[in-house]
Amino acid sequence: MKICIDPGHGGKQPGAVGTKGIPEKDIVLKVALMVGEHLQRHGVDILYTRTFDEDVSLEKRCDMANTFKADYFISIHANSAENQTANGIETYYYNGSNAGLILARNIQEETVKASGLVDRGLKTNDLYVIRETNMPAALHELAFLSNPKEQDLLLNDKWLAQQAEAIAKGILKTAYISWIPELREDDPSMIDKLIIASGDGDMAAATLAMYEYKAPVILKDYYLLNPEGNKAKEYIVIGGVWEPSEPGAKIIRIAGSDRMDTARKLLNK
Ligand SMILES: [Zn+2]
Repeated sequence: MKICIDPGHGGKQPGAVGTKGIPEKDIVLKVALMVGEHLQRHGVDILYTRTFDEDVSLEKRCDMANTFKADYFISIHANSAENQTANGIETYYYNGSNAGLILARNIQEETVKASGLVDRGLKTNDLYVIRETNMPAALHELAFLSNPKEQDLLLNDKWLAQQAEAIAKGILKTAYISWIPELREDDPSMIDKLIIASGDGDMAAATLAMYEYKAPVILKDYYLLNPEGNKAKEYIVIGGVWEPSEPGAKIIRIAGSDRMDTARKLLNK
């Protein structure tokens, strides 16, 4: 799966500029890079049309996506209007592209749900980057930089991270890739102890283990997919014969003769 992410504007083109002076180009670059990181940890190949503050023509952006043969193209922007009360989220697709509509709809649904902002819905417009790209494309407008309340959101890194996650969820849903929650390595409780369960069948026991060990659960597949991330000092492995090959880590195995027996062992602890 290959996805091209296009942070709008850049260089001499600031895009919209709010009353606090922060330009759209800076905000959308932050969000674009976070979206890309989420997609990369799901195994997606990412091409950014820019990764720093530079001028990139609209033609070049489309050429990059087309040469890369991206499966999807997503352009990220912040909105602006004369009327300061204009607010909410909207996503554009190219008129007549059904796959573009589905992509735009999934991004719109996730971002509205995550933010609680006004749903301005899906729009079609003859925008260069969604017209000249060969793959399903969407252009997402995060919120209005011209609206004082939404400007504050757009200047809040936590809010941007939340919306980046929502955009990534919408894209992955379109590509039929299931969302894997992110474990944050800067959260000490996350790296102290981890419970590893092999799959849905062990989740009952894993849930009991969460209370017993006060640690988060990750699935074995996720652990194997992310060998560089989320190292723990102690692993609690539920069931099975597999165990993490982590030098120096303490490994506690909880396994019964079957899944019921494993859960029973935890209940009796
Ligand atoms: Zn823009």
